[in-house]
Amino acid sequence: MSTPGTAFAADHDQRRMLFDALTGLVQEHLDELPGLPVTPETTPEALRVALKRFDFEDGADPFGLLAETARMLRDGIVHTSHPSYFGLFNPAPALMGVLGEALTAAFNPQLAAWSHAPAAAEIERHVLGFLGGRLGWQPEATAGSFTTGGAEANLTGVLLALTRAFPAAGRDGLRALPGRPVLYASAESHLAWLKIAHMCGLGRDAVRLVPVGSDLRMDVAAAVDLIARDRRDGHLPFLLVGTAGTTSAGIIDPLPELVGLAAAEGLSFHADAAWAGAVALSDRLRPLLDGIERADSVTLDAHKWLAMPMGAGTFLTRDASGLREAFSVHTAYMPDELPETVDPYASSVQWSRRAMGVKLFLTLATAGRTGYADLIEHQTALGDVLRNRLDEAGWTIVAPSPLPVVCFTRPDATADDLEAVADRVVRSGRAWISTTRLAGRPALRACITNFATTETEIEALVDLL
Ligand SMILES: *Cc1c(COP(=O)(O)O)cnc(C)c1O
Repeated sequence: MSTPGTAFAADHDQRRMLFDALTGLVQEHLDELPGLPVTPETTPEALRVALKRFDFEDGADPFGLLAETARMLRDGIVHTSHPSYFGLFNPAPALMGVLGEALTAAFNPQLAAWSHAPAAAEIERHVLGFLGGRLGWQPEATAGSFTTGGAEANLTGVLLALTRAFPAAGRDGLRALPGRPVLYASAESHLAWLKIAHMCGLGRDAVRLVPVGSDLRMDVAAAVDLIARDRRDGHLPFLLVGTAGTTSAGIIDPLPELVGLAAAEGLSFHADAAWAGAVALSDRLRPLLDGIERADSVTLDAHKWLAMPMGAGTFLTRDASGLREAFSVHTAYMPDELPETVDPYASSVQWSRRAMGVKLFLTLATAGRTGYADLIEHQTALGDVLRNRLDEAGWTIVAPSPLPVVCFTRPDATADDLEAVADRVVRSGRAWISTTRLAGRPALRACITNFATTETEIEALVDLL
């Protein structure tokens, strides 16, 4: 079956054989994954030489190609799904999420206009409403969209806040404003803010990185001072960002104080809960996010702690009309918006868009909210296990988070020492950890981000260290 046409379609039996082949490869991968090196050794040269054979001139056998591509991926990616990947917020993908991806790809709903994919649009609306409900909003009042990730969700937050603060700027541009719009996020925030400010034409210097206290949370008094100074200097503060779960250390900014400050200063408030927003699904952990219900908008990545295959971010807000103002556009060729519906392309950053919410719908419905809560609480408890075991082994935990991101060091270790430790762990293939800096000071970082991680992998990591 090496006819080039197989690339596009095949008859019933051929399809079945191809799906079976794919299933076999995925099964084999998932079975052998725990025994694979977390980080296979590879080089750009090796990969490029292997790829040179593909000049794409003529077609080839799909079975061989599927197997070969799976092998390339097996030997050529960091296995973020490995139970000993204590890494950045990349989870193992939930099985129902993977199936949801396949289902979505096969049906290929086009989510630009509601009328092209009503079922997919309503599935997403339902799931976003559920997430809004966990934040403390009315599900029906929750607006927003699935995004490629947290960076796009945060970009959406900036565009919405700009539109609310400076309605004329959408047409006339920032140059028509009497001053420079500025926004505030903590020095420990995710620095996509710099790219976003660049992309929006604000300029990177418009991001005020507010100092943090010794607990790595935004220093609210420092934010007050910066806002006052900016106003004196003729700048135009418009947005305050609270990070709920910093990327380095899982620290949650003082959301209630920040929401209050934003209200007092007339700024929009955005909560960047890309990773830790997931704890909203747990009744026990939800209080960690107190204050988030008063945010104007929230970023919550499903491809982080909700274990979705990438990419699946969400942007959540109650300001449906603000989104429409920021993103609406009228063209002759798009169908008209139907009453009582929202066309995603006229309310969000993207135009043609994949239905990213189907996989989360399937996983949520299979696991139940309580199933997710059990998992999130279990991983949180494993964070405490890791902190305790590191402490017993003579490591110093820095800036402890209530969440399963663990940063640690030795009293007299230099940045180079810690780099060398992380490097040896990664090269061993037996685990993956990284280094980071907290308020400028180097530390090792290990995050329990995988539903398959148990105390066994934690013990093994501490032994390895
Ligand atoms: C990961 C992360 C982002 C960026 O999200 P992507 O999904 O990588 O685009 C933004 N903010 C925080 C706090 C994050 O942890």
